[in-house]
Amino acid sequence: MSAELMNGTELAREIVDRSAERARILVAETGVRPCLATVIVGDDPASVTYVAMKRRRCAKAGIESRLVSLPEATTTAELVAVIRGLSDDPSVHGILLQHPVPGHIDERAAFEAIAPAKDVDGVTMWSFAAMAFGQADGFVSCTPGGIMRLLDAYGVDPAGKRAVVVGRSPILGKPMGMLLLARDATVTYCHSRTVDLSAEIAGADILVAAVGRPEFIKGADIKPGAVVIDAGYNPGNVGDVDAEGARERAGLLTPVPGGVGPMTIALLLEQTVVAAERSAQR
Ligand code: NAP
Repeated sequence: MSAELMNGTELAREIVDRSAERARILVAETGVRPCLATVIVGDDPASVTYVAMKRRRCAKAGIESRLVSLPEATTTAELVAVIRGLSDDPSVHGILLQHPVPGHIDERAAFEAIAPAKDVDGVTMWSFAAMAFGQADGFVSCTPGGIMRLLDAYGVDPAGKRAVVVGRSPILGKPMGMLLLARDATVTYCHSRTVDLSAEIAGADILVAAVGRPEFIKGADIKPGAVVIDAGYNPGNVGDVDAEGARERAGLLTPVPGGVGPMTIALLLEQTVVAAERSAQR
């Protein structure tokens, strides 16, 4: 079997194009231009690159982007104050705090300073709870939200399927499992303490790899015909799944790059436009 590749780049382009059109209409009808504020602390090269990429995509979609760049030595209290200021600023519709922040900062406290109506990256406890309870007024965490859109675009109905999520981080693994559960999958979470990971993976109709280890999931463990979502992104454009092996076994597979990555940014832009539309309605 040779897996069909799920084209995240193409689907993301469609989402961004639609978002750009909605942004254009919003400006024309209300004078409100969607604005995403991005906060970065320190100068971690990977984070600087991600932020620059997100700002370029914002510009292409007609979304204003405001960059707040803070020094490495910023304290939790200072960061919280900056984010509260953005939360109170009516000209800002979405707030993104680039993860990770330096180790001395309480990242959770900083995330919680984001007003829920502006949490377009879906990182607050409020957004997580809204997502878990199926409330449509919250914003989803962008990577799992983007993965659900990819599944929909390729006609994958999670209902009744065995879904295995490897990884349980607050921004990726945990919300991923909740979204699959909400669509009636039978969900198993795996993590560093899972006993016999290979056996768990072998039972997966839908497998999501969110580990952060290059080629960690071996093709031989994958159930023939499974839908394999590789959310991993490691140095050298390498995913968490052994792509060559997975191609032989999976039915559908996300490539790295060009699978999950572009969808994450597309969801961020779409949710920023939605936040601006809601703000204009208020
Ligand atoms: P993370 O916070 O480091 O979490 C990694 C998870 O993997 C943890 O839950 C950990 O388990 C689990 N894990 C580690 N070793 C394991 C093992 N031997 N067996 C089973 N599970 C194991 O990482 P993350 O932020 O979720 O990111 C995961 C990957 O996704 C990374 O490659 C990252 O670059 C990528 N990512 C991509 C995007 C995108 O837009 N494409 C966005 C976000 C993240 P414990 O909880 O037990 O420690």
